[in-house]
Amino acid sequence: MARFPRKNVSLIVQKYGGTSVGNPERILNVARRVIATQEAGNQVVVVVSAMSGVTDGLIKLAREVSSNPTEREMDVLLATGEQTTIALTAMAINALGKKAVSLTGAQAGILTDGVHTKAKIANITPRQVHQFLDDGHIVIVAGFQGQTSEGRITTLGRGGSDLTAIAIASAVKANVCQIFTDVEGVFTCDPRVVPGARKLEEISYDEMLEMASSGSKVMQSRSVEFAKKFAVVFEVRSSFNNNPGTIVKPETRSMENVVIRGVSIERNQAKVTIVNVPDKPGTAARIFTAIADAGLVIDMIVQNVSVSGTTDISFTLNKDELPGAKTVLEPIVTEISAKDLIAQDGIAKLSVVGIGMRSHSGVAAQLFEALSAAGINIQMISTSEIKIAVIVEEARIAEAANVAHEAFGLGKAK
Ligand code: ASP
Ligand code: MG
Repeated sequence: MARFPRKNVSLIVQKYGGTSVGNPERILNVARRVIATQEAGNQVVVVVSAMSGVTDGLIKLAREVSSNPTEREMDVLLATGEQTTIALTAMAINALGKKAVSLTGAQAGILTDGVHTKAKIANITPRQVHQFLDDGHIVIVAGFQGQTSEGRITTLGRGGSDLTAIAIASAVKANVCQIFTDVEGVFTCDPRVVPGARKLEEISYDEMLEMASSGSKVMQSRSVEFAKKFAVVFEVRSSFNNNPGTIVKPETRSMENVVIRGVSIERNQAKVTIVNVPDKPGTAARIFTAIADAGLVIDMIVQNVSVSGTTDISFTLNKDELPGAKTVLEPIVTEISAKDLIAQDGIAKLSVVGIGMRSHSGVAAQLFEALSAAGINIQMISTSEIKIAVIVEEARIAEAANVAHEAFGLGKAK
């Protein structure tokens, strides 16, 4: 990331999401911001998403002509969303008197595998990007899309423009990569839930990934994984003002001094318990293979220590998946001679996340004590190296988040 393309000239990659380019006025706003960045003496590559709602609209259109469109044609269709935005953004910049050119993913040299609708980037040859930059252009690249080596159009999965931005920043060895979005950055907790939540100055890739998988999704997770793999430092910030955002970067020693970086919550969870499962090899495999074969995504899994040859197995999943899980599991409960299946919704997950947990002890105790002092019952617990997650009654999740946020001193200035 520290290579300077030209003396005193920085190469900046900026990504603007769907809300930031959601109407013509906002596209003009982006055009002005991009021009200001160039006028400050930088080369600028801009990655844009489809205008907000457009990708969903295209998916809906496809369903109206076919119940089962091929994924190849879905990609041809979906890629038009971003293609609209690159052309409009380039036009807007041109109209303001500056040189800009739009490039599709293929023209920007983004080569992917052939897995339509969720393709992986294989490599990037940004030859045209460099040529146009050297010629004084602002280069606008379509997010979310690429092409296979046979020239088929592919897309990178929902939210994939983030991935385009990170991957392009890595390929052109940008000095700075900025992800402009409709939030101010990454917060210690959702400010709508915890009014005292604070914008983080920095966060490590692993913390960002844990927070995303626990409900605080600011960016596509694959893009953060890619950034981690290639050590791309980037900033998440708002496109509606000039406030600095949150820097996402490899972890440093000093980052471990902060024990808890943030608190995430996830509502709409449900819990399934299979009671008195015979404790013998193959029963857990039977249950979870059936769940997986039905395409159901589950989260926490807890198995009790077996008492007199049977055990209880519980797991959580999204509330919407509960009816499907019941249908799949009811025959299996009989088949494996378990006693009962209990399904319950109205629960939510609270997670506290921080790489400092690796070197600090007592974090779990501190969280459990804080919840207990508030009289909030913990129904399930799970941990990873940098996360402690608990299931609580959904009606009390906001209170639990505030309690945890307070207990770890997250609201106060450092
Ligand atoms: N337009 C695509 C989507 O809505 C990609 C993106 O916005 O990043 O998922
Ligand atoms: Mg998006």
